[in-house]
Amino acid sequence: MLPLALAGLALALVWVAPGLMAGQTRFRRAPRAALLAWQAVSVGGVLAALLVPLATLPMLLRGDEVTEHPWVTALAVLVSVAVLLRLLVSGHLVGTRLRAARAEHRELVDVLGADDGNGVRVLEHPMPTAYCIPGRGSRVVLTRGVLDALPPDQLAAVVEHERAHLRARHDLLLEFFTVVHESVPARLRAPGALAEVRLLVEVLADRAAVRRTGEVTTARALLAVAEGRVPDIGVGAAASAPVRMRLLTAGVQPTLAAAAYALAVTALVLPPALLALAWT
Ligand SMILES: [Zn+2]
Repeated sequence: MLPLALAGLALALVWVAPGLMAGQTRFRRAPRAALLAWQAVSVGGVLAALLVPLATLPMLLRGDEVTEHPWVTALAVLVSVAVLLRLLVSGHLVGTRLRAARAEHRELVDVLGADDGNGVRVLEHPMPTAYCIPGRGSRVVLTRGVLDALPPDQLAAVVEHERAHLRARHDLLLEFFTVVHESVPARLRAPGALAEVRLLVEVLADRAAVRRTGEVTTARALLAVAEGRVPDIGVGAAASAPVRMRLLTAGVQPTLAAAAYALAVTALVLPPALLALAWT
């Protein structure tokens, strides 16, 4: 029955856990640990799916349970193959879509925007907006509106926030979650999961800005650019300014962080542990 347990674990981690985790908003107070838990749960889910065929091998070699319950083995392998196929297709679709959108946007920004000499492109547009284009030849993009509206310290906060996204490659993290999210059949997707991960990434970038410019300056900068619309090229969360403002001053909760790390370890250890059991 261990292959079935592994297949069940894969389904639970990829399809069920995201919905439950998205509801636990208190983990926003330990964003780094929470993001690690999200990653571990996704990786653990994929790992569990990958290990199902390996877990059926001992049964095949012994030739016992397979002959008694051939459907159990067949079902487990089928789930594993289905999860993998969906992940591969989703990875291809999401990757192609994101890279095309970014390349197109980067070209547009380079044609329309002026280089300020520090890797920041300035667009002549009145709406106060800031965002980054990740990937090869990454850029921070600011509009004339944000340059006119913000004093230098708040501008520094805005730029530091975007640079934090680029430094930590939050785009890759979000791409990974989008791939896993879209690999789940639409009706079974946890609607808040991707939004929650996007918010956690924003909270981390906000913290980088706070370290550089302080809470008050970062909060004011956040408010100033809250109205601006950001192109959907993989980084950035819309309409989360009030939540992010509250989290700016929230200290990290060690117990929450510990709980998130424990969940991460469990999600990563369970699949190989079940496989080991199948072979003993
Ligand atoms: Zn951001």
